[in-house]
Amino acid sequence: MARQLNAATPDLAAFRAAIGDVPASSDAATLKLKSRDFFWFSPILKPLLEGRQADLVVSPRDKADVTRVAAAAARNRVPLTVRGGGTGNYGQAVPLAGGVVLDLAGLDRTVRAVPGAGRFEAGATMLAIDRALRPRGWEMRFFPSTRRQATIGGFIAGGAAGAGSCTWGQIADPGAVIAVEVVTVEETPRILELSGRDVLKVVHAYGTNGIITEVAVPLAPCQPYAERIIAFPSLSDAARFGMAFTAAEGIAKKLVTILDGRIPPLIRKLKPIVPERSAAALVMVAEPQAPAMAEMAADFAGKVVWARDAEASEAAALADAGAPPLYEYAWNHTTLHALKSEPGMTYLQVRFPAGRELETIAAVEAAFGDEMLLHLEYQRRFGRVFVSSLPLLRFRSAERLAAVIDQIAALGGSVSNPHTYVLDGAGWKRTDAPQRAFKRLADPHSLLNPGKLADLAE
Ligand SMILES: Cc1cc2nc3c(=O)[nH]c(=O)nc-3n(C[C@H](O)[C@H](O)[C@H](O)COP(=O)(O)OP(=O)(O)OC[C@H]3O[C@@H](n4cnc5c(N)ncnc54)[C@H](O)[C@@H]3O)c2cc1C
Repeated sequence: MARQLNAATPDLAAFRAAIGDVPASSDAATLKLKSRDFFWFSPILKPLLEGRQADLVVSPRDKADVTRVAAAAARNRVPLTVRGGGTGNYGQAVPLAGGVVLDLAGLDRTVRAVPGAGRFEAGATMLAIDRALRPRGWEMRFFPSTRRQATIGGFIAGGAAGAGSCTWGQIADPGAVIAVEVVTVEETPRILELSGRDVLKVVHAYGTNGIITEVAVPLAPCQPYAERIIAFPSLSDAARFGMAFTAAEGIAKKLVTILDGRIPPLIRKLKPIVPERSAAALVMVAEPQAPAMAEMAADFAGKVVWARDAEASEAAALADAGAPPLYEYAWNHTTLHALKSEPGMTYLQVRFPAGRELETIAAVEAAFGDEMLLHLEYQRRFGRVFVSSLPLLRFRSAERLAAVIDQIAALGGSVSNPHTYVLDGAGWKRTDAPQRAFKRLADPHSLLNPGKLADLAE
């Protein structure tokens, strides 16, 4: 199947000759490692994607190398799958048609940083960016919980939100990305600059319509974020605290994660901290305002059961000192830790309806019993609180999974299905007309990440 995705036969030998001294490897271990992401979170994707591999991994050192590779791929009709940190959950970075994996880790420079904004090469990790920004007093507004490995290019092309979204929203929100530089895959590649709404042409397009080489984003002033874990008598108390605390704009915060009482016992770090059957909030809050946060938690019967000060929290995140940062237990890291205790677990991505979040959460909690364990993430977007969920699901079968998705929809939730690698098969996320039009322009031979767009997948 994979090889038929592109009509013309790829000429890998000619490609290799054309890229000259650009570093490349066909070593078996490298091919295996660089052809994978975290698709194995999904019992549906695992058997579909296991063993799919590139023929060559190419590691450009700079933009000139990228352009040379793009030209060689176009001329020799070689499929090209761009790779950042390889932390995607849906097999986005798996090369379904073989060919070349283009590993952008070597493009990791800060192009420019001014007060309030920074421009970075696409292969820079979110953590390296924040380390570089720290002495200037600025930081990334938000980052995925995979901050250590995830690149800014991969976040733009495959991610959505993360720690900081409780204040700053999501990657596709207006102003979240200032500009993107894209190299086209043509015989003579062009370097295009997209800014304003045009950035949406490549945001969350899984690298199907251009090679992102640089990204400019707005920055936030650094805050001394302290970490707190708060225990609550019930999920409902914790969820109501999440709403109130996220809405409290006067308190600077970076993380508002709520776990139902059955999740902490599955996670080694949390088990001894969170009292049995208590729901928990994982919070990053500006240290001087941590007491104000604790008072709000107390309004919902919440008690702080663990605390780490800002200095130690920052050392854990930026200098790897001490226990991992709290955000590495949030977002899809919650799933990762739960999978370690219960390998039969998987997850979904759910949004709750505006104004009916709490009743819908209660309805979902009641409907699924021990089959589903609720994990909520709070975001602030467009002047209001958004509640989404990465619920843990005890997987039974593909049919049952589909029925669960339907049932959540019937209760008012909307699901983005993480068990598909096809972009248009995922629920909320649809490629729109400008993304399709941009693909025709930037990837006229349809070589980029073949198999990930619904009508082009065979
Ligand atoms: C434990 C865990 C926790 C996670 N938590 C979060 C979270 O909090 N928030 C979130 O949004 N996601 C999360 N994710 C998913 C993932 O980590 C993020 O989306 C991350 O930003 C992906 O970056 P990456 O560099 O690893 O991208 P990759 O996985 O390498 O690539 C992702 C997609 O983007 C394409 N791509 C990569 N770089 C480029 C480029 N320069 N140009 C064009 N296309 C490119 C790839 O082809 C692929 O389709 C999590 C995943 C795991 C396993």
